[in-house]
Amino acid sequence: MSLASIRARLVDACQEAGRAPDAVALVAVTKSRSQSAVLDLIAQGQKIFGENRVAEAAAKFAPLRANTPDLELHMIGQLQTNKARDAVRLFDVIETLDRPRLALALRAAIDKEGRAPACLLQVNTGAEPQKGGVSVRDLDALYRVAVEEAGLNIRGLMCIPPAGEPAAAHFALLHQLGNNLALPVLSMGMSADFDVAIRHGATHIRVGSALFGG
Ligand SMILES: *Cc1c(COP(=O)(O)O)cnc(C)c1O
Repeated sequence: MSLASIRARLVDACQEAGRAPDAVALVAVTKSRSQSAVLDLIAQGQKIFGENRVAEAAAKFAPLRANTPDLELHMIGQLQTNKARDAVRLFDVIETLDRPRLALALRAAIDKEGRAPACLLQVNTGAEPQKGGVSVRDLDALYRVAVEEAGLNIRGLMCIPPAGEPAAAHFALLHQLGNNLALPVLSMGMSADFDVAIRHGATHIRVGSALFGG
């Protein structure tokens, strides 16, 4: 599907949900795609990109920064504490903050780099042991550490629902959790289910495969 048709579906979903079409931002997920694929999207006006590995993202995007000042790069993969400094240097939004130790590592990295990305807390809404994300039970405690101890700019929540389960219940849960913390950003919905996510209040959808035709 082309970028234009994804954007058209986004606008349709907003209209159906009674939301303004600019209420939802499209994060183009370019993990494992080439730099020329990125340039092609930039040429079509896309500004927001998601990557899941720090080194791959740096190789692809660092050289593009100079010519594309309004690029907004999101980290959407699990982040190791020893990569915190590289991540802080490169990304504008880190969507996968999921543990206190990482919050403190990001604080230290921000102090060293003099650059402070916004952060989202990733919530493991399906309680899947192999998946990143804070448990629903530990979310409030992580939020407090991230804000009060680490002084991070926590803008919202992110989730990746379990594969093979209807996503709607997970999106509804994330929406509720975001409301409880009065956080404005909800990153949820991927190629298969972004219209459902928009109905449940997503402010950012992360679309990869649909954008590249499989
Ligand atoms: C790969 C990925 C996406 C994009 O998924 P598609 O199904 O290809 O649209 C979104 N979010 C995260 C965290 C990802 O790793």
